Amino acid sequence: MDLNWTPQQNMLLRMVGEFTDNEIAPYDMQIDRDGKYPAGLFQKLVDTGFLGLMLPKEYGGAAFDPEITAEVIRRMAVGNASAAVTLEGHYKTLDQIIKFGTQRLKDDYLPTATKRIFAFSMTESTGGSNPLGIQTTAKRSGNGWILNGNKIMITNGGLAEVYCVLVKTAPEELSVFVVDKDMPGFSFGKQEDFIGLRGVPVGEIVLSDVHVDNDHLLGKVGDGPMLGDSAHDDARILMGAALTGIMEHALQVATDYAKERKALSTPIGQLQSIQRKLADITMGKETTKLLYQRAAALKLAGRPYSEEATMTKAYGSRTAVAACDDALQVLAGYGYSREYPLAHLMMDARAMEIAEGTVEKMRGQIATAELAK
Ligand SMILES: Cc1cc2nc3c(=O)[nH]c(=O)nc-3n(C[C@H](O)[C@H](O)[C@H](O)COP(=O)(O)OP(=O)(O)OC[C@H]3O[C@@H](n4cnc5c(N)ncnc54)[C@H](O)[C@@H]3O)c2cc1C
Repeated sequence: MDLNWTPQQNMLLRMVGEFTDNEIAPYDMQIDRDGKYPAGLFQKLVDTGFLGLMLPKEYGGAAFDPEITAEVIRRMAVGNASAAVTLEGHYKTLDQIIKFGTQRLKDDYLPTATKRIFAFSMTESTGGSNPLGIQTTAKRSGNGWILNGNKIMITNGGLAEVYCVLVKTAPEELSVFVVDKDMPGFSFGKQEDFIGLRGVPVGEIVLSDVHVDNDHLLGKVGDGPMLGDSAHDDARILMGAALTGIMEHALQVATDYAKERKALSTPIGQLQSIQRKLADITMGKETTKLLYQRAAALKLAGRPYSEEATMTKAYGSRTAVAACDDALQVLAGYGYSREYPLAHLMMDARAMEIAEGTVEKMRGQIATAELAK
């Protein structure tokens, strides 16, 4: 289902489609093989204005609403899911600064977000699904705070220049601060060698006596869990869009192949067993799209969207892995070859059963929301 875009939105979406077709899709296989973006691609994303897409106009952005932002992510993910997820990580972080930052923090940082990537960092070796296990601390010092600890597996870690960081301000109290890579005591650590979304740098940051002003606290002291949930919700809508794009890509490959490949004289697309797979991929793609569009519409309307956003990613991630597996089976031996993108599409989708909350935790959240009704 396509939403009723305005003529101006349609023009912008056409530009996104052209950018994806010309600058991203041709490098899809190369990005997976090399484990990084081709030289110059990130700068093209910056120069074309993608970093400021959903940023309010007063900070130099294009003020895209949640529905069209998700549509951009979907269209880009058809070309390459890594590029879409790099933007997703940036947008969900900006969302939290827009919602919970002090005016001074917003004035200082948001105008730079059209050129610099922002990232949200919660995970540590001792705390992924269970944030109270983290060990990074913030201690009061004069008019500000001193931060110590390290964060791992951060989307865009190493590429991003500004990080929202979940810390302990007391043994049972979590808070979030904004840290700049140029602050004394900030350094980068290990980069992950992940099996999917190979273009996205995912890495560690190390904080060693990093001093931040009070203005760098997001929300209030103790708001960490609420902020983490809010970041997850915003990310999950965009991940639903990225997953839909991955399924669209897999479907294109599978249908093109099914029209050409013959079982003796019959195109395999005429076989019921192959048609069933194509139909399942199509239904999975369209249901995930409806879920993320519904969550985005609720967000745009200022209504609660947490459960819908969670369903989008919980359903969409498993569905996309199964869809890519079906598409791989349509191509059979060629599907299993790196000559075709299906293995990497499956691994790209697989990341989203883990990042921004595991499917196990998300099922718990959905059930808890239903039990509370
Ligand atoms: C591609 C990618 C990008 C990522 N980007 C970021 C990022 O930008 N920022 C960031 O902070 N982190 C990021 N992460 C880390 C990710 O958020 C964590 O991997 C995830 O939260 C799970 O934590 P864990 O790996 O420590 O697994 P664990 O928490 O150790 O979980 C192990 C298993 O136990 C289950 N489990 C554990 N606790 C519970 C529970 N309470 N209820 C139900 N099941 C449970 C899990 O579902 C899982 O199956 C990223 C990860 C990936 C793969």
